[in-house]
Amino acid sequence: PQTQTRQHVAILPSPGMGHVIPMVEFAKRFVRNHNFTVTFLVPTSGSPSTAMRSVFNGLPDSIEHVFLPPVNFDDLPEGSKLETRIALTVVRSLASLRDALASLFSRRVGVVALVVDHFGLDAFDVAREFNLPSYLFYPSPAMVLSLILHLPELDESTSSEYWELTDPVKIPGCFPIPGKDLLDPIQDRKSDVYKLTLHKAKQYRLVDGIIVNTFNDLEPRAISSLQEREATEKLPRVYPVGPLAKIQRTNLTEEESQCLIWLDGQPRVSVLFISFGSGGTLSSDQTNELALGLENSEQRFLWVVRPPNDRAASAAYFKVNSQNESSFDFLPDGFLGRTRDRGLVVHSWAPQAQILSHSSIGGFLTHCGWNSILESMVNGVPMIVWPLFAEQRMNAFMLTEDIKVALRPKASENGVVEREEIARVIKALMEGGEDREKLRKRIEELKEAGSTALTEDGNSTKALADVADVWKSQIRN
Ligand code: UDP
Repeated sequence: PQTQTRQHVAILPSPGMGHVIPMVEFAKRFVRNHNFTVTFLVPTSGSPSTAMRSVFNGLPDSIEHVFLPPVNFDDLPEGSKLETRIALTVVRSLASLRDALASLFSRRVGVVALVVDHFGLDAFDVAREFNLPSYLFYPSPAMVLSLILHLPELDESTSSEYWELTDPVKIPGCFPIPGKDLLDPIQDRKSDVYKLTLHKAKQYRLVDGIIVNTFNDLEPRAISSLQEREATEKLPRVYPVGPLAKIQRTNLTEEESQCLIWLDGQPRVSVLFISFGSGGTLSSDQTNELALGLENSEQRFLWVVRPPNDRAASAAYFKVNSQNESSFDFLPDGFLGRTRDRGLVVHSWAPQAQILSHSSIGGFLTHCGWNSILESMVNGVPMIVWPLFAEQRMNAFMLTEDIKVALRPKASENGVVEREEIARVIKALMEGGEDREKLRKRIEELKEAGSTALTEDGNSTKALADVADVWKSQIRN
């Protein structure tokens, strides 16, 4: 039977669509190019969402998945940090991971590697028990990876908080970046989450290889710097295999189909798509200003709206579902009626990858999750950046200051981006003009470069083949 001749990879994604989606895309491309089989071992903290299930359903037979038994969070204090919840979901799933791996081994499928993401590093000890090499899948840019690998040095050489630094921070191979824009978990050096990140940074050095969802023409200096450090600092080998972006999904729900039907009726390159990823939320004030800014811009739009949350910017992360949630009562009075002929609002979740590839889309207002950025890029859609949490400010900085494919609205002193500013930036992106032309030209170049990286001779295809070669040379378990 096939299982005796093929090799097998186990993949452990941490909870969150931003981790699951690119790892699934990686697996799809990997089995297509390299005749492996894959099992996803998926930690959960409740019943998996409809969106999550639909990602795993309909995969080729060579990719199986198992939802690990849900972990319990009853002991966690209210308002505990997103990173803490994600990390704990994995840590509390380690015993079931061990059982699941044992069961794979008993089937003699030829397991040669365990792939995890940043939050799954603790699973390495379990992998070691099975004598299994561990690979890190990095669903964020090489810039963030470079920072994390540099964090122990940065920690030693800096005495203040990073946001207090007056000079921009130099990350190897990257455009110098203001300390306040570095990723969230390192903004308070006394916090537990900082200590955990520093600890993880050290763990990164122990993995057998790091697979990054980026490509050479997008981050040439960051990638070559990481590759040089392989030799000079004995860092793990880095494999840039991107852009792995979700392209197609079938079996849309009724509401999801409505989005695409509505887009079919709009002029080409005329609609601004607005989405804050799988869990991003805005405050009530900010939701109000965004609605009125959209209205004032007089542009067409498709907005994935969530009920506001005044406490956290990632409030919906653990609750994502494609079901209708509630009404749009929290939007400004009369907003829906006044924008009916040029705007569509949908609850909580939309088929983003398909929307971004639709010919009516002309711009994307994004929270700057890396998957959202890559999905925009592979479709040549310029962006407005609206970073909320995690490493999103770094991504936003890269898009606006370094590769220049996006505009950024300025917040007022109270931290809220006001309607006039929102309308100004939306018009600059969506109406013709020099600014828009420059952004479009640049993003088209990156779209081309990304597509070239994935051709048969492309750099990313070669990097993927390098991973396959190393795994093929492993002894099969
Ligand atoms: N996504 C989607 N519909 C939505 C929101 C998100 O399909 O309404 C998908 C999106 O296409 C992307 C992923 O969920 O593939 C979100 O990942 P990203 O890294 O952008 O952000 P995160 O959710 O991790 O904050």
